[in-house]
Amino acid sequence: MSEIKYADIAVVGSGPAGHVAAIQMAKLGLSCVLIGPDHPGTDGRTTALLGSSMTYLESLDLWDGVKAQGQPLRVMRLFDDTSRLVRAPATEFDSSEIGLEAFGYNINNNKLVVALHKDLGSLSGLIQDKQFARSVSLHQDHALIAMEDGTSWQVKLAIAADGRNSLVKEAAGVEMRKWSYPQAAFVLNLRHKDMSHNNVSTEFHTPSGPYTLVPYEDMHTSSLVCVVTPEEAEKLKAMERDALVLELEKRAHHIYGAFELLTEPQIFPLAGMVAKKFSGKRAALIAESAHVFPPIGAQGLNLSLRDIEELASQIKAAFEQGEKDPGSAAILKGYDEARRSDIWSRTAGVHMLNMSLLSSLPILQGMRTAGLAMAKHFAPLRKLLMKAGLDSPARFSKIGD
Ligand SMILES: Cc1cc2nc3c(=O)[nH]c(=O)nc-3n(C[C@H](O)[C@H](O)[C@H](O)COP(=O)(O)OP(=O)(O)OC[C@H]3O[C@@H](n4cnc5c(N)ncnc54)[C@H](O)[C@@H]3O)c2cc1C
Repeated sequence: MSEIKYADIAVVGSGPAGHVAAIQMAKLGLSCVLIGPDHPGTDGRTTALLGSSMTYLESLDLWDGVKAQGQPLRVMRLFDDTSRLVRAPATEFDSSEIGLEAFGYNINNNKLVVALHKDLGSLSGLIQDKQFARSVSLHQDHALIAMEDGTSWQVKLAIAADGRNSLVKEAAGVEMRKWSYPQAAFVLNLRHKDMSHNNVSTEFHTPSGPYTLVPYEDMHTSSLVCVVTPEEAEKLKAMERDALVLELEKRAHHIYGAFELLTEPQIFPLAGMVAKKFSGKRAALIAESAHVFPPIGAQGLNLSLRDIEELASQIKAAFEQGEKDPGSAAILKGYDEARRSDIWSRTAGVHMLNMSLLSSLPILQGMRTAGLAMAKHFAPLRKLLMKAGLDSPARFSKIGD
């Protein structure tokens, strides 16, 4: 018979969310296996970690290592680049207005995982199994995860951090609502040596989606996320490099002068997906196994960190009441219920924002224009929007004043 190994918890998927989940569970004093190979280091994206993500990572002693890799985002400015008849005014959101030094930090995804991975081996009760899980089965009192080498892990709780095509989610039989967008993110990192970004993130709202430059590794580098149609993304990728540079400078309205490309372009097709439930028998869904949406407002991984924080808080509270099983039905029910409003409202908010750019419906365009105009001129609304972008609706009233 093949070998069975035991732990309290298995986190399946070793991306950024999986790493944080495994570290969090070990810090609760539970034995945990993180399942998945080492990060390949080929992700050209960056992630802006905002507001409560910073304080949460700080509580896990992870923030200093992560922060050292990134650049602070102090100001976010939005320009309407649609050339429509009624356009929104340029609007600027400054973190100092809500008493913060920065909204967050933007970090190269490869460096983020390296920083999270650094202390993995030193945490008692936590190990990594660097294989892919081959199959997952969920039973009344345990979850069984079969590995590529024929061994298995038997655990009380399987945490799904294995992305959009999650095996754990499939085993749990959780249905998804799925939709697509006629858009893809064209992503690369670049240098603008003549001009500094001054820790300002700049977003041009174009009719195909945002063209965003976010402070990257120092004052003269930015990461670009340019949302266009999939065909246009391919066309940009195929361009000869000098021509591409000129095209990207033009789309940036030359705000930083000349560009020099630092990384090869990558394309990420955009999609939307949200689970109808965030847990199943012996399984908790977190991160992209539970929710996927376009990279607008830098929400994806920030929402995932709130999943992990909530799951940990449900387990901790139950254990304080004498519970000994981290995968009990009561804990998983509590987790599912607690995550609904934050995940559903964030998914809907990003969808609406994206559609207000894409749609030819005057009412949607008008709502966006009016919203930004009011935010520009009405400080309380501007502050509310800034806080809403940084945390879950239930908690953002606590940020700043
Ligand atoms: C262009 C772009 C920009 C973005 N910018 C931001 C941003 O600024 N801020 C933000 O918060 N979010 C952002 N996001 C979203 C963010 O990048 C994702 O939420 C995040 O990368 C997902 O991390 P993850 O750990 O959930 O998933 P992944 O990184 O997809 O990790 C899943 C892991 O599971 C592993 N895996 C899969 N199957 C198995 C298996 N069978 N066994 C073991 N392991 C398995 C994979 O190898 C992988 O390592 C952006 C997204 C895009 C597309």
